[in-house]
Amino acid sequence: MKNQVQLITYVDRLASGGVRELSALLDGPLAGVFGGAHLLPFFHPIDGSDAGFDPIDHTMVDPRLGGWDDLRALGTKAELMADLIVNHVSSKSPQFQDYSQNGADSPYAGMFLTYDRVFPNGATEADLLRIYRPRPGLPFAYTTLATGEKRLLWTTFTPQQIDIDVSHPHGKGYLDAILERFHAAGITSIRMDAVGYAIKKPGTSCFMIPETFAFIAELTEQARALGIEVLVEVHSYYAQQVEIARRVDWVYDFALPPLLLHALFQADAQPLIEWLAVRPKNAITVLDTHDGIGVIDVGADASGKPGLLKPAEINNLVETIHERSKGESRQATGAAANNLDLYQVNCTYYDALGQNDTEYLMARAIQFFVPGIPQVYYVGLLAGTNDMELLARTSVGRDINRHYYTPGEVADALKKPVVQKLIEIIRMRNAHPAFGGEATVESAAAHDLKITWKLGSAWARLHEDLAKPAATIEYSTVDAGHSSTIHIG
Ligand code: BGC
Repeated sequence: MKNQVQLITYVDRLASGGVRELSALLDGPLAGVFGGAHLLPFFHPIDGSDAGFDPIDHTMVDPRLGGWDDLRALGTKAELMADLIVNHVSSKSPQFQDYSQNGADSPYAGMFLTYDRVFPNGATEADLLRIYRPRPGLPFAYTTLATGEKRLLWTTFTPQQIDIDVSHPHGKGYLDAILERFHAAGITSIRMDAVGYAIKKPGTSCFMIPETFAFIAELTEQARALGIEVLVEVHSYYAQQVEIARRVDWVYDFALPPLLLHALFQADAQPLIEWLAVRPKNAITVLDTHDGIGVIDVGADASGKPGLLKPAEINNLVETIHERSKGESRQATGAAANNLDLYQVNCTYYDALGQNDTEYLMARAIQFFVPGIPQVYYVGLLAGTNDMELLARTSVGRDINRHYYTPGEVADALKKPVVQKLIEIIRMRNAHPAFGGEATVESAAAHDLKITWKLGSAWARLHEDLAKPAATIEYSTVDAGHSSTIHIG
C-alpha cells in the first residue's frame, strides 16, 4: 500500500452516478489528493438490506455503477481496496435460493449454518449466552424455506444476511471466486468485512477464536499469492487488536476516533498518548467510516480488564457527542434507530465536534501524523453534516453519516475553507518524505502533544495545544534549512 492518504467512499454517494463519475472526480477537483480508495460495496445490489453488505452476487458489479472494466480503469489511477464480505450472503443469492427450494438435496445445503449443523449435540444455555454479537440477542433467524421446512439459520447481522460456513467446499469456492474476480480487476487490497464472526464453534464466543485467526491466515495467504494485501475489520478490546495486528497485514485503529474526541473535549491527550505507546503500526487510521464511532474499542473487556478510557469518560464522551451534535446523534444511535451495532455512536465526525473547524482539522492532523495509512471517509472529506432527512426516511441509524451528494453540493463543499485546509494538509502528508521515516511523540502537559517525523534531513512536526485549541504543522522544504508552516486555529 502506498504511504498516502486514501479515500473511503460509496461509488454513487460522492460522485452521483457510477465508477466513471467517481473517476472523473478523482481526476478533476480531487486530482493528487488520494493515493488509493476503499470503494464500499459496489456489488449486485448496492441497495439491499445493509447498503451492499448483503450481496446477491458478490462477483458482479451493480450495473447501475458500471462494470469490472470501469473499475480496472479506475485502478490505474488509484490503488483500490474492495470489501470481501466473508461472513454472509443475501437470502436472495442464487446459492441460498437453491437451498431454500431444495433443502437438504441442494448442493449448497452445507454452505449455510443451521442450528443443528453448529450444535449437532445440542447447546446449553451457557453455550448460547457465550456467543458474542454486535448487540444483545441470539444470532438465529427463524426461517421457513421454500420447501416449507422451518429452520433456525445463523444470521449475525440481519435475517437477510445468511452466514456462510466458510469451511464447507461451497463456502470456500465462493470466496475463491471473489478473490479471483478482484485480482482480474486489478484490486490491490481487500477489507475482510466482519471477519471476527466468521467461525462458529460450539462452546466458544464464536468471535475471534483461534480458528478465526487460522482462517484469516489461510485467506490472507491466498490473497497475497494474488498480490492482494489484507485489512482485517474487527472492533474489539484494544489488547485484542494489538494481538490481531501481530498476525495480519493491516488492522484498523478504531481506538483513535474516540480517543481524539476525548482529547479535544477534555483537553486531555493522556489516554491517546498511552495508546500511541502500544498501538500497532501496521494500522489503517480512520476518524470516520460508513459505520458509527466505535465505543467498545476503548472500553473494558468482558472480564472487566480496563479499557483505554474509564467508563465515566466513555459516558462523558458519548454525551458530549450528543450535545455537540445538538441531539442529532442521539436520534441515530443505540435503540433509537434501526441499528446493527449497538456499540457505535452514529454521527458525522464534523458534527461530533460541533462543526468546530479548528478542532476538526486538529483531529485530522493527528490522524495524519499517527503511524499508519490514513483513510478519509467521503463525508469527512467534505466536512459533512448529519443527514437527518435520510435518517428519517430510512430509520437506519448509520444513514445519518451516509449522505448522497449532488455534484453541486460537492463543488460547494470543496470551496469551504475547512475543506481546502484539510486538502492542503493531505497533500503535504502525501508528498513529504519525512513520513517514510520514524515518528516520535512528546507531551509537555496533558493538553500538549507533539509528533515529529524524520527521515534524513527531512522532518515534519505537528504541535497541538488542546486547551487553546490550536495547532501548527511545520515541515522542512526542499531548500535545506528552510521550512513551511500550516496554522490551525
Ligand atoms: C460493516 C457494516 C456491515 C457489517 C455486516 C461491518 O463490518 O462495516 O457496515 O453492516 O459488517 O456486513
